Amino acid sequence: MTPAVFDPDRFDADVAVIGLGAIGSSAAWRLAARGLDVIGFEQFEPGHAWGGSTGATRLFRVACLEHPGLTPIARRARDLWRELEASGGQSLFLETGGLMIGPPDSHIVEGTLAAAVSHDLPVERLDASEIANRFPGHARLEPGDIGVWDPEAGILRPEAAIVAAVDAARAAGARIVTGTRVTAVESDADGVTMRTDASVFRVRQVAVTAGPWIGRFLPGVPLTPHRVVMTWFRARGGHSADLDRLPVFIRSVPGRDTWIWGHGAFAGDGLSPAFDVKVGPEFDGPFDADDPDAIDREIRPEEFELIADLVAATFPDVEPWPSAATTCIMTHTPDGQFVVGATRDPRVFVGGGCSGHSFKHASALGELVAQAIAGEASFTDAEFLDPRRFG
Ligand SMILES: Cc1cc2nc3c(=O)[nH]c(=O)nc-3n(C[C@H](O)[C@H](O)[C@H](O)COP(=O)(O)OP(=O)(O)OC[C@H]3O[C@@H](n4cnc5c(N)ncnc54)[C@H](O)[C@@H]3O)c2cc1C
Repeated sequence: MTPAVFDPDRFDADVAVIGLGAIGSSAAWRLAARGLDVIGFEQFEPGHAWGGSTGATRLFRVACLEHPGLTPIARRARDLWRELEASGGQSLFLETGGLMIGPPDSHIVEGTLAAAVSHDLPVERLDASEIANRFPGHARLEPGDIGVWDPEAGILRPEAAIVAAVDAARAAGARIVTGTRVTAVESDADGVTMRTDASVFRVRQVAVTAGPWIGRFLPGVPLTPHRVVMTWFRARGGHSADLDRLPVFIRSVPGRDTWIWGHGAFAGDGLSPAFDVKVGPEFDGPFDADDPDAIDREIRPEEFELIADLVAATFPDVEPWPSAATTCIMTHTPDGQFVVGATRDPRVFVGGGCSGHSFKHASALGELVAQAIAGEASFTDAEFLDPRRFG
């Protein structure tokens, strides 16, 4: 694969994908599926625990409160996740439905309803007593709270989904190089030269999908990688914290100026492994920029205090002290939307800027990156994700 003598007129591939995490694994798959000659680089092994995609589960929603334009992306993503499930013979997506709870004028409720109205989604609006009857796991609601039920919501398995996308890319002809860090990307009028510690590669175009590490290659895109702690909890008994009674949720916490998100516990079913209740706090900026290569992986008990307090205030049937915790890296953009598509350099494309909500869309974001590189019209209007919007 490595040219014996570097020749700038000899191309090693049409496209290189740098970083095979959530978006990059799908970009490599979707590019290779179009017949392009693709080479994908991953500094660790697919499905590793050191980037933005670790932690066993990710929430999937179709009524996306972050932007109505995300709904068609979520639906396209679900089709692609299902295609990966069929090709790999394993479950990647559990459809549970999801409940977004808050006061009627909260962003949780208004944003979810705005997406639902824009796309005529079959959501249901529940008042506080209807929520309490149907979903007894949710206690301590405010009398005026509204719940918006998104029947298409569910849970994805991030590590398995990434491995499945890399396998699909390989099956479609992509060359996958793991355990190899790209150290430099230099584009010129004719192509892009990429370096690793051991080799130099020449490609026509490059997709930078390096998650928290994107800033190393594209310092002009304003991304802030930030360390966060993810936490799991045990149910106290009974079944009110089981996944069917406590499906995917985002909810405000009475008397607190914050939200929590998560899902109930799942016993496993032979196709998907078991998991505990997961609850996390809203991640509200401003965020310090952390070096993704120097993340403190040690978790101190004081880091649990806020979430333990929020769980105790919301779910009396759940032990408030975490049963497990891990670190993960969230990569924020100034407006909370992703950066996907062409950059100002015609040979360099990007997919990233997770802002804490991109996993559900990642397969379709990979498709958008592939469409931009292949010069195709995108399957939906994705202008709000244009990396050039930041100037
Ligand atoms: C705590 C937390 C909770 C979240 N919850 C949700 C949720 O419920 N629902 C949801 O939709 N989203 C959620 N997200 C967001 C989602 O998980 C992330 O957005 C997404 O997984 C990030 O994908 P990515 O492809 O941008 O980055 P990553 O998956 O981190 O991939 C980047 C890859 O690039 C590789 N790489 C970097 N530099 C190089 C290099 N130089 N050479 C080779 N390889 C390189 C890395 O090793 C990595 O594998 C959450 C995120 C966090 C942190």
